[in-house]
Amino acid sequence: MPDLSRRRFLKITASALAAAGVAGKLGGAVVDRVEKVARSGIRKIPTLCDLCFWKCGAIAYVRDGQLWKIEGNPADPLSRGRLCPRGTGGVGAHYDPDRLRAPLIRVSQRGEEKWQEVTWDEALDYIAQRMQRIKAEHGPESMALFAHGIGGNFFRHTFKAYGSPNIAAPSFAQCRGPRDVGFNLTFGDEVGSPERTDIANADCLVLIGTHLGENMHNTQVQEFATAVGRGASIIVVDPRFSVAASKAKYYLPIKPGTDLALLLAWMHVIVKEGLYDRDYVAKYGFGFEQFAAALETATPEWAFPETGIDPETIRATAREMARYRPATLVHPGRHVNWYGNDAQRSRAVALLNALLGSWGRRGGMYVPVGFDVPGYPHPPYPKPGRGPVDNPGKKYPFASEALTTGIRDATLTGQPYPIKGWFVYATNLLNSLPDQAATIRALQQLDLVVVVDVIPSEIAGWADVVLPESVYLERYDDLSTNLFREPFLGLRQPVVESPQDQKPNWWIARRLAGKLGLEAFFPWKDIEEYLEYRLKAAGHSLAEIKREGIIPGAPKPIYFEDGAPAEFGTPSGKIEFYSTQLQKAGFDPVPRYTPPEAGPPGAFRLLFGRAPVHSFSRTQTNPILADLMSENAVWVNAVAARRLGLKSGDYVRLRHQDGVISNRVRVKATERIRPDCVYMVHGFGHTSRGLRRAYLKGASDAQMMSRYRTDPLMGGTGMNVNFVTLESEA
Ligand code: SF4
Repeated sequence: MPDLSRRRFLKITASALAAAGVAGKLGGAVVDRVEKVARSGIRKIPTLCDLCFWKCGAIAYVRDGQLWKIEGNPADPLSRGRLCPRGTGGVGAHYDPDRLRAPLIRVSQRGEEKWQEVTWDEALDYIAQRMQRIKAEHGPESMALFAHGIGGNFFRHTFKAYGSPNIAAPSFAQCRGPRDVGFNLTFGDEVGSPERTDIANADCLVLIGTHLGENMHNTQVQEFATAVGRGASIIVVDPRFSVAASKAKYYLPIKPGTDLALLLAWMHVIVKEGLYDRDYVAKYGFGFEQFAAALETATPEWAFPETGIDPETIRATAREMARYRPATLVHPGRHVNWYGNDAQRSRAVALLNALLGSWGRRGGMYVPVGFDVPGYPHPPYPKPGRGPVDNPGKKYPFASEALTTGIRDATLTGQPYPIKGWFVYATNLLNSLPDQAATIRALQQLDLVVVVDVIPSEIAGWADVVLPESVYLERYDDLSTNLFREPFLGLRQPVVESPQDQKPNWWIARRLAGKLGLEAFFPWKDIEEYLEYRLKAAGHSLAEIKREGIIPGAPKPIYFEDGAPAEFGTPSGKIEFYSTQLQKAGFDPVPRYTPPEAGPPGAFRLLFGRAPVHSFSRTQTNPILADLMSENAVWVNAVAARRLGLKSGDYVRLRHQDGVISNRVRVKATERIRPDCVYMVHGFGHTSRGLRRAYLKGASDAQMMSRYRTDPLMGGTGMNVNFVTLESEA
């Protein structure tokens, strides 16, 4: 196995960069080297990155049959030829020595991480027999699928063919769900992924709780750099002085949990001072008078004691936004499950954008466009005998996707009907759902737990059967058909072979379907036949997309002013400043602020976020990325740290208000955070012994999320409601 130490990786990257960028300056030696490399049989294969969900176009270099390096694909509108630090380190995913190698069946208690290796047929027969038993005894609805990302498409297909409606992903109730609901209630459409943010053309960018650059969404970060370079006015609202804050004209260190008060006060100023886009509001708006009346008391003076932001700064920033409208973009964020009022807070962000006239406008939020690619024909799915289990009685009336925690609740209570099996694809539920203890109790009650993953994650430790998936560099996935500012198709294709007995998701899903008697739903013989059919139906071919990795489409208008359709899928067909849907369902038709609950005296509110080199559990065991950042730190205000006798580099443990104690974690004492909260990067402190490089490195924020507050509109789990104290580690 190639030596992939960080030093060697950096050496390779530096050589490649030198060869690509400065050959002219260095003269003949580098050119000779490049020519020598070219003669040595390097193949360049376009594919899509999978180190996060963004699906950037990449080009993998294979030298003498071995994966060498990965760069951005210049033909791809998302990466534009440049990968983020995670994506560049993707080589480590292939060479990771901690990868799952063969199918495993458990030989001990669940959670003890003891299995024996079996063949694929043995593993899939085991699963199929138990799934058929669950179907016979409880109905197919009693099997639930948790699946994340494009790789989950074929498992979703198998589960629909099997007859289960219970298919969920944490990306809704634990991530972007409140935003999608808040924007849908306002504009009748969602923000999408990639988000429809025209950052590159924004003259004013407002980031409220969004640490762009640390949460590395490649395209947005590139556009952010463009906007900063153009001199765009940046306003950052965050209890922590983020990297983005360092580029800001205005930094507002808000008291955690009070964003809605600030948003209402901003809108109060913009309405009261007549700074909003009157023509836009008159043409597209519904219920503006009631909306304006509801803002009457939300003055900056009212918001000051709530938010800690002085009235003059609130007024100045509101006027700054209005000055640049409609090219003022209030970023909708992505991970927005914070305090349990998140759909209404996101609706307030949507309303502020509406006041500024930015939805559908250059420098605001464009109208995304895409390709129409037909699916591969298959028999109709059977109609499930019972509806989804996750949201009985539509308790959360605006939940537009299944709730992971709702499926967990049904597993625990047997209501409205029992869930007996979990099939988990590419999502480490123990790190993504709040209240780990509840997840473990649910896992212990199941008749069948199956996990498909590339590494032995914590959730794999609780599985009866673990199926090793090929990493993204070794497999095809379904076509990528993103909506974006220009239409394009993307293809993930294999670059190298899997080193052991790993298989791609499509193969596993198809083979399992065969064993369940559902082969009619997979009438194609392999993925290439499937992809060829879909591409031909769209007027293209597999050979074409394999060559470039991307198929661009003809540009279409994406701004209202250029002819993009100004259509709003709301009941009124307009932008709903006043929501009749919310009013009829008994909720506030215009968002209303309630203060967050205070924590115990002396405790810090625990906040969490992202770092540029990590996204999922699988990035933390990646040898290159783990070497770049092997553990997290807990950010503590410097004055608070001094009071506690702590300094940077000291180790502490976090003690949760409910008594949970974290793994040890280093202190980062800094002026860059308010004294009432602490902050950690998400995803560290792994407890799976198979993740040797990540095992007990840093502290797990997920372990500390034993409390959450459920959003009454859509069932999202607000997780910034946990408080901790710090205990010195000798
Ligand atoms: S943002 Fe980074 S990790 Fe995510 S797909 Fe793009 S290059 Fe890969």
